[in-house]
Amino acid sequence: MSILGSDIIKLPNIKLIDEYDRRLNYLRISITDRCNLRCLYCVSNDKKPNLPHKEILRYEEILRLVRIGVRLGISKVRVTGGEPLIRKGVYDFLGQLTQIDGLSDVSLTTNGVLLKNNIKKIRSAGIKRINVSMDTLSRKKYHEITGHDMFHQVWEGIKSAQSQGFNPIKINVVALEGINDDELIEIAKLSFSSPLHIRFIEYMPIGTSHLNISKHLLAPEIQERIKVLGELVPVEKGVNDGPAERYKFKGAQGEIGFIHAISKHFCNECNRLRLTASGKLRACLLSDSEEDLKGPLRRGCLDSELADVFLRAVSHKPRNHHLACDQPVMVAGRMSAIGG
Ligand code: SAM
Repeated sequence: MSILGSDIIKLPNIKLIDEYDRRLNYLRISITDRCNLRCLYCVSNDKKPNLPHKEILRYEEILRLVRIGVRLGISKVRVTGGEPLIRKGVYDFLGQLTQIDGLSDVSLTTNGVLLKNNIKKIRSAGIKRINVSMDTLSRKKYHEITGHDMFHQVWEGIKSAQSQGFNPIKINVVALEGINDDELIEIAKLSFSSPLHIRFIEYMPIGTSHLNISKHLLAPEIQERIKVLGELVPVEKGVNDGPAERYKFKGAQGEIGFIHAISKHFCNECNRLRLTASGKLRACLLSDSEEDLKGPLRRGCLDSELADVFLRAVSHKPRNHHLACDQPVMVAGRMSAIGG
């Protein structure tokens, strides 16, 4: 018997609020676990094959779940992966997603490799905000980090996104000691010459990753190193902002952000749920507790029963994660399937 009864439209006031009074209004969706890059910090060494196609949620299934989520208070969605732009049909899907009433923000995270040739389709689909992952400004290093010689394509992709009027474009940079730490200043400098928002992300040592955990570089250290460029002035957070601490160098066009998943846990303000590529609802990136949505969905469940699954996932959301820099968290899922 569903908690919500047979028709959730009759109960529009039930919202996704957990026992610590966090209101979950942000859904990150991994639409594929496949990727066209093999980033050192992301690729798992568990040797598991990719999910078979039939195990991946179909677009119409994702759209139905998002509509249910919206009735429960989801207002913000990010499409991620794996690499979302390699999935067939993604531009039509994005177009349908942005049409869902009640969503105030639909954004995309991509590695940018396929951005240049598809930026107009992304724009026409109604996406206004994109994040592009780019951890280095060196072609050689890009190849070493990602396993592919694609720096030029990504850079061109960012430029074409700028010329299509995307603003801000956030550049995700995972900071890694001994890998790209010598470039942090150069990367931060980009914020002077263009309106890019550079976001330095602390490397999260997730259990099955290849990378030695000693590679992490924490936000206070990054901040200290890039201070040679000038004073970092805090920027007030907006309503749709995530956990990034935002700053701006005086006189800069763009911004600098820090995502300090380790040095300063932001669990108390976490508003996220994740829909994995295989149709599980995950309330914390760093906890393997998941609720299955695909099974009930494919058995023909009512919306109200699927809404119950959302509520159950929220009820298991842990208060904190326990990620520390000297100890990897043993997470069974992979970043690509969960949606980083
Ligand atoms: N393929 C897309 C991309 O590269 O942006 C989307 C998926 S990727 C998993 C999403 C984000 O997760 C990227 O910005 C990536 O840098 C970040 N990421 C992946 N593994 C990470 C890790 N172990 N620690 C911190 N960030 C990580």
